[in-house]
Amino acid sequence: MEIRSIRGMNDILPEESIKWKRIRHVMERVFESYGFREILIPVVEETCLFQRGIGETTDIVEKEMYTFEDKSGQSLTLRPEATASIVRAYVQHHLYASGKIEKFYFWGPMFRYERPQKGRYRQFYQIDVEAFGSDDPSLDAEIIASLYDFLTRLQVPGVAIELNSLGCPNCRPGYQKVLKEYFSDKQAALCPDCRSRLVRNPLRILDCKVETCHELAMKAPNIQEFLCETCKTHFEAVQGYLTELKIPTRLNPMMVRGLDYYVQTTFEAVSENLGAQNAVAGGGRYDGLVKQLGGPDIPGIGYAMGMERLVMILKEMEKESPPWPCDLFIATLGGRARRFGITLAAKIRKIGKVCEFSYEPKSLKAQMKLANRLNAKFTAIIGEEELRREEIILRNMRTKEQVTLPANETLADKIIAVMEPRETR
Ligand code: AMP
Repeated sequence: MEIRSIRGMNDILPEESIKWKRIRHVMERVFESYGFREILIPVVEETCLFQRGIGETTDIVEKEMYTFEDKSGQSLTLRPEATASIVRAYVQHHLYASGKIEKFYFWGPMFRYERPQKGRYRQFYQIDVEAFGSDDPSLDAEIIASLYDFLTRLQVPGVAIELNSLGCPNCRPGYQKVLKEYFSDKQAALCPDCRSRLVRNPLRILDCKVETCHELAMKAPNIQEFLCETCKTHFEAVQGYLTELKIPTRLNPMMVRGLDYYVQTTFEAVSENLGAQNAVAGGGRYDGLVKQLGGPDIPGIGYAMGMERLVMILKEMEKESPPWPCDLFIATLGGRARRFGITLAAKIRKIGKVCEFSYEPKSLKAQMKLANRLNAKFTAIIGEEELRREEIILRNMRTKEQVTLPANETLADKIIAVMEPRETR
């Protein structure tokens, strides 16, 4: 019987991975221009890292983790997000000892046992950005700017940044109390999840997608009115910088984000091109998290972005993926020509060009067809007859022009010279 991939876990085939590559290219360019450096973290961590880091009352920890015991009986979990792991690495390797603001970017697969649907998978990829070492609002603004910059550089249409402040341990409990009071006499209209949220984490009700809960949440007290002076001043400064940077934002007091560690600034990037799952990225400030995970009291802020959703948007935009570039195809006829051709391919690749070789000894016509399928710009035709005369033929596949070149030591350079005439190099 055919073996298939696991539900919600997808293969990314070359047709599509070319888009992923473009995204990663822009990711490196943009994030490195902000001084973020790449960090790589393991796929598996101790389960308690996520329980402590993400929060026991979050959907991720309550229902969505891939947790298992290894052969020694230790409880391990496939990472459902990157922030907790990056904080762990930051603490474990004493990266705070530099005394600098440390800024990282990362990309890799995440695992959540969610109900798969369009834009929602069980293995999905995130790009992640994290910065540690300052609670200054200018860092919040720069982090949000890097996200906006990245999305506009990728030409994602209709990007808007939704902003909120979730307050801090000083003012949030007061708001939570008010919220609890508001929802208490409306319990009957809440979904079962929200009824339990009311006891454990009433803020999460604001985020519920169930229609009746959403309607009640719309009329709930607004968190902005309960922020303490510190949080209010901080949030106003963040908004001021973003206005200065001309980044379009809109206030969304209902956005609470699904993770427990956020304080003060939270944000999401949304795109008009995505349907129900319109959030491309989300993040916020998590000032207590480093301490909570055993490190010093150092503030942090970051965000995560779903690769699949970005790819979906880019797919909508470019109906056809650009053909894979092939600079030279090598067609051969006969055993000696094949040996000559395979060494020529090695030399061309060493020069840095994409070169394909015809692996199967087929007719010249079949090989030319293959060259066209591969979108080759040029084809080197190497036949026994030509080799006897110490020559090969180089064909421009677009103009159909052909030139004869000497099959000697300088052949690879001569081919490059024809492919890239000096004035265009
Ligand atoms: P979160 O880590 O939940 O804040 O999500 C950050 C971003 O990751 C979202 O805005 C999505 O783009 C993406 N994302 C989250 N969960 C999934 C999923 N199950 N499948 C695909 N993308 C996801």
